[in-house]
Amino acid sequence: MLQLSRVLDMAAASGFDCAGVAKAKRLDHDALILQQWLQLGHHGSMDYMTRDIEKRVNPEALVPGCKSVLVCLISYHKALHRAADAPFISESGLSKTDYHLVVKERLQQLEQLITAQYGNNVVSTTHQHLFCDSAPILERRWAQLAGLGAIGKNRQLINPVFGSFVHIGILLLNEETDKYSSPFEEDLCSDCRQCLKACPTGALRSDPFDARKCISYLTIERKEQLPEIYKKAVENVLYGCDTCATVCPYNIHAMPTTHTQLTANETLLRMTADDWQQLSRRQKLKLLHRLAKDTP
Ligand code: SF4
Ligand code: SF4
Repeated sequence: MLQLSRVLDMAAASGFDCAGVAKAKRLDHDALILQQWLQLGHHGSMDYMTRDIEKRVNPEALVPGCKSVLVCLISYHKALHRAADAPFISESGLSKTDYHLVVKERLQQLEQLITAQYGNNVVSTTHQHLFCDSAPILERRWAQLAGLGAIGKNRQLINPVFGSFVHIGILLLNEETDKYSSPFEEDLCSDCRQCLKACPTGALRSDPFDARKCISYLTIERKEQLPEIYKKAVENVLYGCDTCATVCPYNIHAMPTTHTQLTANETLLRMTADDWQQLSRRQKLKLLHRLAKDTP
């Protein structure tokens, strides 16, 4: 059996800001909400959301034998000074290194520490079991169940210390821990409505959340032509939207990241609207390294 305190020490030694462990179980309530969301069509053209539903809500269906969900957070909050006319790129797209690589590397290091201590049986040898935005798994819910924060009205995970500019890494383990982290139960939003007021498209006012109105979806996921009503909202946006996160008091008071790889890529940050206009679409995608791997 794994020891919770030892596993959390290993997560810290692997470079995560905080971590927690939740007992694996099927997320029945989240499954109902997900079905409702899909039936309403609020996922837009993210067809991948309609696949692997059972895996999405049940870690045992994703990795047979899974008993525990180890969730790790790493802050990417940046102290940014954007040029006034620079096209908008969200903080996650501005990091020096692709965050998928940063988080995966640290998860692999963490896995090595755990298996060195407890043996190879702790992780699946036949299934992919470490993830960062790379598997059908409800990362924010698992982070809440692992005691790492609340899901705010802006639909993001909010950690009371690091805010919501955090990447979530998950390692599914085939062993139980001697005890589990307590789920985070506090309502961090209370009567605050800053994000709802600030959202330029009203995406947060739909319940369940309507991704089709969200600028992140419109600029990253959407495949069809942009509807006329959103053209103004995305006028000078290259990638994503941070409005509902930027106004959140938990981010206003959060410390900038201490992880060099996740600090701002100054070249990207300094580029003006003119600089971007000189580039081809392919060059733009290459610069926005997160998308570069999808470029043909
Ligand atoms: S990311 Fe932007 S568009 Fe999407 S919900 Fe937040 S504020 Fe609204
Ligand atoms: S801005 Fe206010 S309501 Fe929105 S997520 Fe942050 S604390 Fe919650």
